[in-house]
Amino acid sequence: MRIALIAHDSKKDLMVKLATAYEPILAEHKLYATGTTGKRIMAETDLKITRMKSGPLGGDQQIGALISENNLDMVIFLRDPLTAQPHEPDVNALIRLSDVYEIPLATNIGTAEMLLRGLKAGFLDWRDMIGAMKERPINL
Ligand code: PGA
Repeated sequence: MRIALIAHDSKKDLMVKLATAYEPILAEHKLYATGTTGKRIMAETDLKITRMKSGPLGGDQQIGALISENNLDMVIFLRDPLTAQPHEPDVNALIRLSDVYEIPLATNIGTAEMLLRGLKAGFLDWRDMIGAMKERPINL
């Protein structure tokens, strides 16, 4: 599976704790992150992550583009609900695209843990079928 990890500044420590606790699960998948989130996780775990630009500089939009092209299977976005973000429209667009394409999305730690445990249990295997359908030649 392809998983995106994003955390606003006040949630970055929590994201690192999540990535550390679930490192054995996350290590089995292809990981993407916005710039600073990815840098923090890679500095504090052994996970390999494809880093996009920092969120306010377009990283959220890059993650959104991956969703729109069916190149992501899960998004964990630990967002800060108490602080106004300069890139709020990008944040909303990313969440909206997850809903448009039915991508499992967690916006807080409680749901994030459920998604990761569900991933381990195979609850997201249906996403592999979506990927297989995408690769099927259109004239069949
Ligand atoms: P960052 O971006 O990981 O580069 O801080 C996250 C965000 O604010 O969307």
